[in-house]
Amino acid sequence: MAAALRIDVVSIFPDYLAPLDLSLVGRARTDGLLDVRVHDLRDFTHDRHRTVDDAPYGGGAGMVMKPEPWAEALGHVVATRDASTPGGPRLVVPGPGGAPFTQARARELAAEPWLAFACGRYEGIDERVYDYAREDLGLPVSVVSLGDYVLCGGEVAVLAIVEAVARLVPGVVGNAESLLEESHEDGLLEYPLYTRPRQWRGRLVPDVLLSGDHAAIAGWRHQQRMTRTAALRPDLLHPSAVDGRVELGVATAGDLPELLTVLHARGRPTSSESLRAGLATGTTWLARRAGRLLGAVRLQEDGGTLRVAAPVLVPDLADDPVADDSLAGQLLQVAERTAVSGIRELVVDDPRPSPGRARTYRRAGYHRRDGRWVRPLVLHEARRDPAAIG
Ligand code: SAM
Repeated sequence: MAAALRIDVVSIFPDYLAPLDLSLVGRARTDGLLDVRVHDLRDFTHDRHRTVDDAPYGGGAGMVMKPEPWAEALGHVVATRDASTPGGPRLVVPGPGGAPFTQARARELAAEPWLAFACGRYEGIDERVYDYAREDLGLPVSVVSLGDYVLCGGEVAVLAIVEAVARLVPGVVGNAESLLEESHEDGLLEYPLYTRPRQWRGRLVPDVLLSGDHAAIAGWRHQQRMTRTAALRPDLLHPSAVDGRVELGVATAGDLPELLTVLHARGRPTSSESLRAGLATGTTWLARRAGRLLGAVRLQEDGGTLRVAAPVLVPDLADDPVADDSLAGQLLQVAERTAVSGIRELVVDDPRPSPGRARTYRRAGYHRRDGRWVRPLVLHEARRDPAAIG
């Protein structure tokens, strides 16, 4: 049986990648879920000193990795394609100037059949290698940064990226449900965790966790996630920065044609007149990524209740349980953050949700009451001004 994900790593320090034999990744390799192959860049040199670097053109400090060994090494990797990986790999080059590595990016990489990592050292790799990989080898190339700091080489970054990606490959983590509960999966940090004993060194586990009341526990956990995220990572709660990539904003009349199409496609047709009237109230929120519409939610105040229409997502995302959970969760957060004082509960009108959506509601702190999903608002006194959200 072919592995779910093939990973090639090219480095001048192959021993640095030895931890990929351990723990979860090591077991996934033994179980045949991951096919990891590490290559020594120096095996693709032809001089006595196995030289991989040279002085930079234009002067300056440090050395630059020569293009020739890289071209040979990448050519060798591509030439080992087989029936389970007929296309080439995605080339991932760790670099401090790359796109930030996030949980969303880990998911994207985990969906690829084959990843090849190029570990830079010294000042980095001759720029022409990237063009060669794209143009001559036909590989998609992603430069990915672990964070805003400088490491000595790409190996540590590859260890981190491979671990984050591998645990998302189906079968690698035994309990797939647990993956959805992690920090960053829906733009929030995780709630605090406790285990036995109930009392430890004078410290008690919060009562609600011992209550057996699942709705209360879900509500408490959600509140903790919001509070923690607001305190530790307020950038995640900003409407334009949730998940680093999804932008949330109020829909305007210009969004009408796109929204009509999505509502129609999702089996919730509406007339353009009634949608236009709805948009004029400024209570429909959209999620977009790079300008592309992902989903929408409509809110309506009704006394002390904020009524929330079931979040609607564009068809391909609605069919993907992970995307649906993440985006519907983010749209539900809009309701919570825009609720003015005086709102005592949020009510989602979704009598027959899919099992995945029902789980999303529960995780967001809602419980079922008379065919609706209800979430009491405890601490919240937010404002309606979108700029003040977060
Ligand atoms: N001259 C480079 C610059 O200023 O952007 C830094 C080179 S760094 C000393 C050497 C190698 O470490 C890089 O080619 C890259 O592979 C890796 N590296 C350093 N910082 C990284 C980061 N934040 N994320 C991912 N890889 C990093």
